[in-house]
Amino acid sequence: ATPTALLVGTGRGAQLGILIKGPEVLESTRRVDTVVLDKTGTVTTGRMSLIAVHPAEGEERAEVLRLAAALEHASEHPIARAIVAGAGDDLPAVEDFQNVEGLGVQGVVEGRAVVAGRERLLSDWSVHLDEELATAKKEAEQQGRTAVLVAWDGKARGVLVVADTVKPTSKEAIEGLRGLGLRPVLLTGDNEVAARAVAAEVGIDEVIAEVLPADKVDVVKRLQDEGRVVAMVGDGVNDAAALAQADLGLAMGTGTDVAIEAGDLTLVRGDLRAAVDAIRLSRRTLATIK
Ligand code: ADP
Ligand code: MG
Repeated sequence: ATPTALLVGTGRGAQLGILIKGPEVLESTRRVDTVVLDKTGTVTTGRMSLIAVHPAEGEERAEVLRLAAALEHASEHPIARAIVAGAGDDLPAVEDFQNVEGLGVQGVVEGRAVVAGRERLLSDWSVHLDEELATAKKEAEQQGRTAVLVAWDGKARGVLVVADTVKPTSKEAIEGLRGLGLRPVLLTGDNEVAARAVAAEVGIDEVIAEVLPADKVDVVKRLQDEGRVVAMVGDGVNDAAALAQADLGLAMGTGTDVAIEAGDLTLVRGDLRAAVDAIRLSRRTLATIK
């Protein structure tokens, strides 16, 4: 490889909105056959909004929202922000707050032990959903939405439905990746049903869901052990280790600094189509060198 040709590739990358850490990065894209995509903030905008509150029988809608929001006020997760924004001001204080990574949040609000998050988190507290709440959860997930389950004092009190939107450019980007002969895989901590709905919307059929933040890197390793050469695209703190482990790490420029630091390339505008450009560019650059 002549350094000059590689540098030309790097310059062209900048024009396309792709920042490349070093020219040698382009070389590692050559054999990539699989592209793992984080869901929230990468395939979707990550800007979430609260769209529904389903109280359990005998519970007040406003009270379910108020206690959940009080708890979420202490979290920076996009889901938490959506719930707080949907609840308005005047939230009570939280004591003993705990963020349970990839599962939800818990704490004490006005003397009640409150939990908000995935079903698994509620199960840890031996709380189970009644049929009505289970249906509300399932329906939300079938539409690609995230259901946040709320419980306090040992009983499920309601389901909050949070929606994210697929970026308008994601579908075209996935088609572009396929056009280059690459296999797209959706990777997320979100539930399987919601992840499948989003995947279907953008044309991905391989989905790995309900993966805890610390386990994303293991998914990349496992694919590599199967002989696949993996590019990973992500934006979050929880994607950083996976970005570093991947044969090629592509960070969304709109994402966290930790992710950008861990990636080999940055897609400056957060547009997934730039991932296609990056891989196409590197192949072309390398073809010129050969
Ligand atoms: P992703 O991989 O999509 O970026 P995370 O790993 O951050 O998602 O979270 C995985 C899941 O854990 C979320 O989809 C949500 O169900 C739950 N969760 C995480 N944080 C919170 C929170 N603050 N409140 C409620 N649920 C949460
Ligand atoms: Mg993300």
